[in-house]
Amino acid sequence: MSEPVFEIAILGRAVWNLHSLNNEGTVGNVTEPRTVILADGTKSDGISGEMLKHVHAQNVWLLAPDKSVFCPPCRTLRPQRADANKQLAKSRQQAADILDAALNLCALCDLHGFLRTEEAIPRSSTVEFGWAVGIPDAFYRDVHVHARHEVEGRVRAREQAEETPVQMVYHRPTRSGVYAIVTVFAPWRIGLNEITYRYAKGVDRQARYRLAMDAYKATFARAHGAMTSTRLPHFEEFKGAVVVSTRNFPVPTPSPLRPEYLGALDRLSKATEGVEVHSFTALDELFGVLEDLKQRLVFTLEAGVE
Ligand SMILES: [Zn+2]
Repeated sequence: MSEPVFEIAILGRAVWNLHSLNNEGTVGNVTEPRTVILADGTKSDGISGEMLKHVHAQNVWLLAPDKSVFCPPCRTLRPQRADANKQLAKSRQQAADILDAALNLCALCDLHGFLRTEEAIPRSSTVEFGWAVGIPDAFYRDVHVHARHEVEGRVRAREQAEETPVQMVYHRPTRSGVYAIVTVFAPWRIGLNEITYRYAKGVDRQARYRLAMDAYKATFARAHGAMTSTRLPHFEEFKGAVVVSTRNFPVPTPSPLRPEYLGALDRLSKATEGVEVHSFTALDELFGVLEDLKQRLVFTLEAGVE
């Protein structure tokens, strides 16, 4: 019988071509790509954890067959989550009871966290993403010029009125590269009220775990983010490892930025009790690993059970 799952990390290198999934912003008619700086001062290309986490949250919502597992704001994917739930906002209960109610009510509030501001009650996410970072010397950037022209009829009308036809020129970045990806999921925290350190009653923790795992599959099945209407990434491959911790010990996450990260993982798993490494060389293999993990029980903190 396989051990219950405490934490899961997915570490890998993805090849995305000709995308513009995340940008700094647009000044005038120029859109700037995201730039990140690594520990040795190297500048690289990045896709923020915010973007990746948002895509995962959206997939949690998309894949739930019955949207009644979400609170009213999450049924329409409002980013405030529990903070926008009017029933909770009016509640005069103790903070611990409000958190219990929020966890009980909503799979998305539970899995992805929220900050209730009326009376500050934070719920940190059980799903965490780091930046997807271009491997130095394995990413490329270009800026392309595009133009939007007025339709012919309107051009003629302007000429007759002795106006200059409008032609809008804009510059958009395009990138290709190998990206290091790191994400951690903490199933042991599903339904855990971190004020009382008890599990909220009535929460189907296994169902939420399976939903989050399916959302991972959807997130890696097709990269999503900015400018996909005209720069849908040409996805080539995703290789790496799924690391599983089965004891109450944080799952280790050596960065795929390091060329030898799989070797480091192997040594770490041998040196650490309760750490499993499942490597994958293609998306279908990753899906197989996640599907197998979905069948396992989630870890329950002993102190969290009354
Ligand atoms: Zn919610």
